[in-house]
Amino acid sequence: MSKRIVILGAAESGAGAAVLAKKQGFEVFVSDLAEIKDKYKKLLDDHHIEWEEKQHTEEKILNADEIIKSPGIPDKAPMIQKVRQKGIHVISEIEFAGRYTDAKMICITGSNGKTTTTSLIYHILKEAGYNVGLAGNIGSSLALQVAECSFDYYVIELSSFQLDNMYDFKADIAILMNITPDHLDRYDFKMQNYVDAKMRITQNLTENDAFVFWNDDPVIKRELEKYDIKAQLYPFSEFHEDDAIAYAEEQEYIIEKPTPFNMELEELALRGKHNLYNSLAAGITANIAGVTNEFIRKGLSSFGGVEHRLEKAGKVRGVEFVNDSKATNVNACWYALESMRKPTVLILGGVDKGNDYSEIYDLVREKCIGLVFLGVDNKKLHECFDSFGIPIADVQSMKDCVDECYKMAEPGSCVLLSPCCASFDLFKNMEDRGEQFKECVKHL
Ligand code: ADP
Repeated sequence: MSKRIVILGAAESGAGAAVLAKKQGFEVFVSDLAEIKDKYKKLLDDHHIEWEEKQHTEEKILNADEIIKSPGIPDKAPMIQKVRQKGIHVISEIEFAGRYTDAKMICITGSNGKTTTTSLIYHILKEAGYNVGLAGNIGSSLALQVAECSFDYYVIELSSFQLDNMYDFKADIAILMNITPDHLDRYDFKMQNYVDAKMRITQNLTENDAFVFWNDDPVIKRELEKYDIKAQLYPFSEFHEDDAIAYAEEQEYIIEKPTPFNMELEELALRGKHNLYNSLAAGITANIAGVTNEFIRKGLSSFGGVEHRLEKAGKVRGVEFVNDSKATNVNACWYALESMRKPTVLILGGVDKGNDYSEIYDLVREKCIGLVFLGVDNKKLHECFDSFGIPIADVQSMKDCVDECYKMAEPGSCVLLSPCCASFDLFKNMEDRGEQFKECVKHL
């Protein structure tokens, strides 16, 4: 009798996992408590996979040999609790897909910079002619690609939620950008639980693998002392110090190993300190993967950036608008503000995930000429910023928000949407928030 795999959650990762499981000859059942999107229903139907939506039928779930859980489902969900009580093994889609491919796995995690770095690595490899797939939180699921394509490399963005249910999976090149507080609501508000999830990126690494990490991160440094990492280490840093093997020095971008590489900082496509880190991580990774210096240079200078990340959203009568809607935590906003060279009207607000705004106090004092709070509940923001003596406005729609910002801004200044918060109080998601921002700017 074939083994029964049950997949909980039928969005990108769940539907992809179902297709791969079916192809591997398992008996497959998919269950989602919410409504399943039409495109995923069709995918499941096309592969003759049984599914249900808006319910979890226990008898069809608790008889599974193994469960693949979508990253969006928290461990506290009642059905997951029941599954655990029954002792059924729960894995992530990435763990499952990893079993059925020999492709080289390049895996990126961190609190911030994942999508940018993942996209940049993919861009460099693709330009260099590699047979490479893009997976994880972006692009189509790893499982679906493993089922339907035959790539030699995968560049995979991994969230802490995906890492939570990974056990035997191994990266060939693991990249850890940084660890700062995020998603603490899913980790019992204990930072160490979140840190442990991120450090799982290093699990199972062997001496033939590579571990690329930001050397200036105090949390990563502290954690590394606890782990016996066998992989080759590639620490990168803003400056040429400690044991960093990649850094910036005298307007040059430098990688020391495995193949020495340098280019002018001016030529990098991405701007801002955080993007130097992202460019360093991507450059080292391409270097380790054997991309020639010529193609690394080309890739790093021709990358078009990623939507909603410090994206230029237009200039109206001397006021520049920047869409950084993806900044859903305080640290991301810190880097966005840090990269601003003009007086800035900053848009903050939305669903707060336990934010500590004190991290941006100094930059707000130094750079902001106005604050616009865009949220249903702006109380905490007022408590934090009212005493700064900076003009503040409260708004509850993007139109009012952009109008207020435009009133506060002066020619030669900049409006930055980098809200530190999730968007679900007023928008569908962060993309919707960024799109509405760009649309309203167009209509000014
Ligand atoms: P993620 O996928 O981890 O959320 P993104 O690449 O989408 O990361 O960037 C999200 C936001 O985080 C950006 O808008 C930017 O303000 C900030 N950011 C990007 N890279 C870094 C970095 N290396 N360190 C800190 N903040 C960053």
